[in-house]
Amino acid sequence: MRFTKSRILALSFVVATTAATAHGNDHGLDARNFDTAVSPCQDFFEYANGGWLKSNPIPAEYSLWSLDSEINERNLSILRNILGNAAAHPGVPDSATQKIGDFYAAAMDETAIDKAGILPLKNDLATIAALKSPADVASLIGAWQARGEDVLFDFEAQPDLKDSIKDIAYAGQGGLGLPDRDYYLRDDAKSKTLRAQYQAHVARMLKLLGDADAKTEAAAVLALETRLARASLDRVALRDPANSYHIYTLKDADAKTPHFSWSGFFHNVGRDDVRSFSLAQPDFFVAADKALADAPVAQWQAYLRWRLIDADATYLGKDFVAADFDFHGRILRGAKQIQPRWKRAIRSADFAVGELLGQAYVAQVFPPEAKQRALVLVNNLKLAMHARIERLGWMSAATKQAAYAKLDTLVAKIGYPDKWRDYAKLEISRNSYVDNMRAATAFEARRQFAKFDHPVDRSEWDMTPQTVNAYYNPMGNEIVFPAAQLLPPYFDAKADDALNYGGIGSVIGHEMTHGFDDQGSQFDAKGNLADWWTKADRAEFEARTAKLVEQFNAYVPVDDLHINGKLTLGENIADLGGLLIAYDAFKLTPQGKSDAKIDGLTPDQRFFLAYAQTWRTAQRPEQVRLQVQSNEHAPAKFRTNGPVSDVPAFAHAFACKAGDAMQRPASTIVNIW
Ligand SMILES: [Zn+2]
Repeated sequence: MRFTKSRILALSFVVATTAATAHGNDHGLDARNFDTAVSPCQDFFEYANGGWLKSNPIPAEYSLWSLDSEINERNLSILRNILGNAAAHPGVPDSATQKIGDFYAAAMDETAIDKAGILPLKNDLATIAALKSPADVASLIGAWQARGEDVLFDFEAQPDLKDSIKDIAYAGQGGLGLPDRDYYLRDDAKSKTLRAQYQAHVARMLKLLGDADAKTEAAAVLALETRLARASLDRVALRDPANSYHIYTLKDADAKTPHFSWSGFFHNVGRDDVRSFSLAQPDFFVAADKALADAPVAQWQAYLRWRLIDADATYLGKDFVAADFDFHGRILRGAKQIQPRWKRAIRSADFAVGELLGQAYVAQVFPPEAKQRALVLVNNLKLAMHARIERLGWMSAATKQAAYAKLDTLVAKIGYPDKWRDYAKLEISRNSYVDNMRAATAFEARRQFAKFDHPVDRSEWDMTPQTVNAYYNPMGNEIVFPAAQLLPPYFDAKADDALNYGGIGSVIGHEMTHGFDDQGSQFDAKGNLADWWTKADRAEFEARTAKLVEQFNAYVPVDDLHINGKLTLGENIADLGGLLIAYDAFKLTPQGKSDAKIDGLTPDQRFFLAYAQTWRTAQRPEQVRLQVQSNEHAPAKFRTNGPVSDVPAFAHAFACKAGDAMQRPASTIVNIW
């Protein structure tokens, strides 16, 4: 139930790359990336990126390949050096170097991992085997959840949506092995095939665990997960924050789910003092509780064995790793081969000891002056958005005042946290990869549990500095930009303004606009879920956003699969607003005011090309399907062509005419912020 937003999809197997391409060295637009055989007015994405797409086939180990992949690849070699050096010279016990070094060494020790086999899971498997009654099942689930393993539901601290200065506990729907609840319920042929492949994968994994009747167990797992899926809200419903905010006292929650004791659970997590929390989706918990009571214990045992192995497979021996990749990497995302071990180890380190690694990373790539330069840009973008709101013809003065209040108090976090996370209580050794991952999971869980009912720590970050991404957090009214997002070519001090405003400027504008999208606009300047709109303005906002839903519903990225305009609405509002704000801010710079060409391109053309080039992305069809069916972000091509076709300055810059694909009829053009 996180309401924070990420700009780029953060899926596993997406992270990085092998082949670096030419960019950034000349601090300009690389004309080799263009495909001038395509008209910019027919398909701007192809025009701007067609050359790049032709010369950058997706590496076998990836399901998509993009600018962010290229940046990630540079990051990976930096992080590999940091981790390799730490592993070779771990230094004193409990130091940062010891922790990241030993973590990496254990993760890389394939021989020891293979030799251990499923020994690290032995105790848990024995506990599952000993279950006798529904009460035993409920108590085991509670015990695992208390270790931070989200077996059946998500459990974490988030600000109280109506009193955002304090954190409370949220228990949210979960417990599924497929990417989304709809994967269990769709009736088309492709979905049915995928379910059969999933069930075969579950059986394969259980067989690797040594189960004799793995096939029967897999069918039982799928049946139980389907029950949970039916009781789960879909992703569009989850976009409405009210659907995840249901405050219960522990006593009332216990009455709601008589077979799962929340009082006992809060005792297990060490927070007897907590009196209430959000049972975020009550209907889901009622259904799960019913399953606890009436599904056979043997079905739960199969389910728990599956949940255990699915969570730990990638930290075990090569058979488990290969089987896990076969489903999650190959079938679900279309990758052709698994990433080398060191890249997978870095991804785990990013989860387990991310801010320890981040400190070493920042020291290498992000000097203090970079932070200052980014802050100047953020302020220019804020001014541009303020001016846009002033000019909005459709909004009343009263709503505008509230919007200014929200914009003026927006906080920008740049590069890395002012206060680094304290890892003193996390123990990491060279002995076992899976034990280190479990220690890190439990450490993070204790950190979450300690927050319940306490003031929010506004200095915290939800992403590590080495992450190529950014987010807006509506409860903190803050935009957050990790160092890795602020590197060339997004942000290049030596490039012309058109490139920086089209690049990082549109990213900053995007995150700012999230504060005013279909979801963010329901939160006020203080980060509370509170209505600051007049009725008429809200109705007009919804009429305008409905047009954007329609625009994106019409796009078909793969086969006959349409983009879900409602699911992607927040991102699409942010993309369009971000582009407009960045363009306005660019027009205030000396280059934006001039018409001096560089390399034959006008300032405006360079601005829009820079925007499109940050979206250069090639995706395997499997990955596109997965994204369209389970992700709030539309595929990159539509995040380029969609917004530019709503911006009249774009059509002007490239002299597009009525009838061109990129110049939609005036009546369909969307204008919100
Ligand atoms: Zn976003």
